[in-house]
Amino acid sequence: MDCLFCKIINGEIPSTKIYEDDKVLVFKDINPIAPIHWLIIPKHHLTSVQDVTSENSSIVAYIFEVVSKLTKDNGIESYRIITNCGDDVGQTVKHLHFHLLAGTKMGWSIE
Ligand code: 5GP
Ligand code: ZN
Repeated sequence: MDCLFCKIINGEIPSTKIYEDDKVLVFKDINPIAPIHWLIIPKHHLTSVQDVTSENSSIVAYIFEVVSKLTKDNGIESYRIITNCGDDVGQTVKHLHFHLLAGTKMGWSIE
């Protein structure tokens, strides 16, 4: 499948990995918008939240378990998780991913 994040998972495209196990990969965003900007992705390809069903939703809970552990392990006390779903809100990679943003004070606005 011609998916950028599947290529990062299988090593075809290099990435700076933060954490990996059999179900998820966490790596640094190539174009960070905050001092800490990680991407958390399931290894099984899902296009976006729109692909989440009762059959596969356990991966979403697991991703948040990983977020909870990784932020604690890295001393990150305050952070924001974002997932873009669809073109209008800026989803550019069609493989479910959660942005973890931290390391700066953030406002709350939609342009
Ligand atoms: P989206 O806009 O779909 O919510 O997020 C996609 C993210 O993937 C963007 O923040 C973008 O900077 C990041 N990205 C795109 N290509 C690459 C890449 O080749 N490597 C890494 N590490 N991040 C990428
Ligand atoms: Zn993919």
